[in-house]
Amino acid sequence: MAGGHRLLLENAQQVVMVCARGERFLARDALHSLAVLEGASLVVGTDGFIKAIGRADAIQTLFSEETFEERIDCSGKCILPGLVDAHTHPVWAGERVHEFAMKLAGATYMEIHQAGGGINFTVEHTRQASEEELFCSFQQRLQCMMRAGTTLVECKSGYGLNLETELKMLRVIERARRQGPIGISATYCGAHSVPKGKTATEAADEIINNHLPKLKELGSRGEIHVDNIDVFCEKGVFDLNSTRRILQSGKDLGLQINFHGDELHPMKAAELGAELGAQAISHLEEVSDEGIAAMATARSSAVLLPTTAYMLRLKQPRARKMLDEGVIVALGSDFNPNAYCLSMPMVMHLACVNMRMSMPEALAAATINAAYALGKSHTHGSLEVGKQGDLIIINSSRWEHLIYQFGGHHELIEYVIAKGKVIYKK
Ligand SMILES: [Zn+2]
Repeated sequence: MAGGHRLLLENAQQVVMVCARGERFLARDALHSLAVLEGASLVVGTDGFIKAIGRADAIQTLFSEETFEERIDCSGKCILPGLVDAHTHPVWAGERVHEFAMKLAGATYMEIHQAGGGINFTVEHTRQASEEELFCSFQQRLQCMMRAGTTLVECKSGYGLNLETELKMLRVIERARRQGPIGISATYCGAHSVPKGKTATEAADEIINNHLPKLKELGSRGEIHVDNIDVFCEKGVFDLNSTRRILQSGKDLGLQINFHGDELHPMKAAELGAELGAQAISHLEEVSDEGIAAMATARSSAVLLPTTAYMLRLKQPRARKMLDEGVIVALGSDFNPNAYCLSMPMVMHLACVNMRMSMPEALAAATINAAYALGKSHTHGSLEVGKQGDLIIINSSRWEHLIYQFGGHHELIEYVIAKGKVIYKK
């Protein structure tokens, strides 16, 4: 057959497919070794989807008559799926670098809060910022993520808390989603914090009665697209009952449940998420054994955030226990003004060292399992025929270098490709 294709990647030392049998996630023994082809080539069609992967000589024979918009010689290099970042707060105004200095000098969270810092600081600045300002800084952050290998990212609202600013943030996310090239899963996180002067119950009522109906209206008019609903389920923030009401209302609108749980205090958030059919629960530093078992049974994925535990010097989530119990473990950068990290290779490294994950577990958590956490693992998260041609090429003969070389990803990543188009070249 003769015809045009978008991209041919030739003769890579390794093509890390991650999985090869259409798995929607990897758990337990499936994580011991990932699907890797040696001496292989890969073809992406003009529709942006992968058409063939296989031994370099076989691909050459099959496609010898065909034309390609672009061919890249990958000799001595590795091809991996584009990385998936399953948890970020990337739309905000107001630098908080001074708080990092205060924390290093020994200030507690409450001291920073009382000095006018913390989330209220970000909320104030984000409310004042124009949509254009927010969009520009957001675009720059997406570019940094992309150069670190991320091709699909979850992006939350949640620094507005009032309807007007939450919608402003969601419009900014929608604009970036339409513009590309990075894939975005949009999350409404209006329940990120209880606004000043309200109780949690009043804030939940406001969200259920005013925010969610507005999201539905704007969604049906095609103005914004929201994929997930999030709540910060925490002592002194949203209690279990308010969390349940908000998540259930979001689910009734067709949103995927994807929320913050069991971070600073054991809240039985994991048990609640499993009961409600949550697609993902993030943090889980304080999750109970029963919560872990319930998540494994319900196939609610755990989005673990190694940067938060590292920078806030919290105890690490029990990744090993979750993996051993069969929970679907994913990773996110948790990029936000309080944990400034845009790099999934660094997140994977921290997950390996501080949470005792293996390198195959960490890569699966940052690809197929992170895609599962966003409900997108049928199209993203592995290199298989029929999936979107989102991938990275690293200048190394073994893929593990992407995790091993801490902070070395800018030197290693030569190409970032989305839907078969080069979106970054070193
Ligand atoms: Zn978060």
